Amino acid sequence: MMKIMPNRLDRGFYLYQEEFEKKALDVLRSGWYVLGREVSAFEEEFARFNESRYCVGLASGLDALWIAFRVLGIGQGDEVIVQGNTYIASVMSITINGATPIFVEPDEYYNIDVSKIEEKITERTKAILVVHLYGQASNMTPIMEISRKYGLRVVEDCAQSHGARFDGQMTGTFGDIGCFSFYPSKNLGAFGDGGAITTNDSKIADDVRVFRNYGSEKRYYNRVVGTNSRLDEIQAGFLRVRLSHLSELETEKRRICERYLKELKNEIIQLPGIRSGATHIWHQFVIKTNRREELISWLDGKGIGTIIHYPIPPHLSEAYQYLGIPIGSLPITEKYANTVLSIPLYNGMTEEEQTYVIDAINEFQ
Ligand SMILES: *Cc1c(COP(=O)(O)O)cnc(C)c1O
Repeated sequence: MMKIMPNRLDRGFYLYQEEFEKKALDVLRSGWYVLGREVSAFEEEFARFNESRYCVGLASGLDALWIAFRVLGIGQGDEVIVQGNTYIASVMSITINGATPIFVEPDEYYNIDVSKIEEKITERTKAILVVHLYGQASNMTPIMEISRKYGLRVVEDCAQSHGARFDGQMTGTFGDIGCFSFYPSKNLGAFGDGGAITTNDSKIADDVRVFRNYGSEKRYYNRVVGTNSRLDEIQAGFLRVRLSHLSELETEKRRICERYLKELKNEIIQLPGIRSGATHIWHQFVIKTNRREELISWLDGKGIGTIIHYPIPPHLSEAYQYLGIPIGSLPITEKYANTVLSIPLYNGMTEEEQTYVIDAINEFQ
């Protein structure tokens, strides 16, 4: 029996093994390990890739998000609109700053339902946090119209959307700040934690650059109370290697997902859709089924692992019980949490593995 895991990070390493190993040795031998030439070069290269003016490397995606709200001055007493079905880090970036998340239901593409945003706007609303979930760009044109109409900031959670576009424009360039994670499983992943913000605003870029290093611009001169959130040289080096291959990595994932879309044929499951105008970089291939538990054990019996992204929506997590949002308040979000399933997808996945997954799902009845 074949054994297929939902993700295989080792395959991503072996694809460019020599380059990664050479980069590791170069950095180790350089004698410079934090905020050096690899980080500066990566920031320049990633800004260019993302069609943004500036990029600032940080220690994680969560840091990128909460520091974004911090430099925008959003905190206590402020409300931030966010979709209910997101990874909990999106929500924590709001609450870490003392602001309140206001949840909006998702649409059929798993991104925020723009027709439900305006009814949630109050005097306290300061921003919309847009999450390009699973790798598909959100419906940005109406979101930006709403933000202009009400004078709201827009922060984009691009942790899953490196390179995805809406109407030809890069995610992370619509709003004030784009926030990226380079956690190993992301489409642009390091071999450890990493993150970054992108922006076209030089003041925001400067503020984040100072904030990530104890609020210090000049050594031992501290302008603000900042934090320590620096991208390591070695991770920046690895990210430069991976970024140089990102378009081929993206093409490979797209080919696998095109096969899934074409060859998966089972009425019990619903395949993901792509919004007109949006591109999808396939961070995850997420299907939906009312018989999820049975499907999981069927696949498990064939040696195929799956993951649920995400089984508990943030408003129902133990951590956010204090918000007092009862079960049933976000029926679509909750329904998704009970029916979504991510099937195996990774760079370096063989055709034989793909066929095995497709056949196993098609045979389920
Ligand atoms: C991964 C992820 C984050 C957090 O990134 P980390 O680097 O793990 O801190 C935030 N938002 C979304 C949507 C994510 O998928």
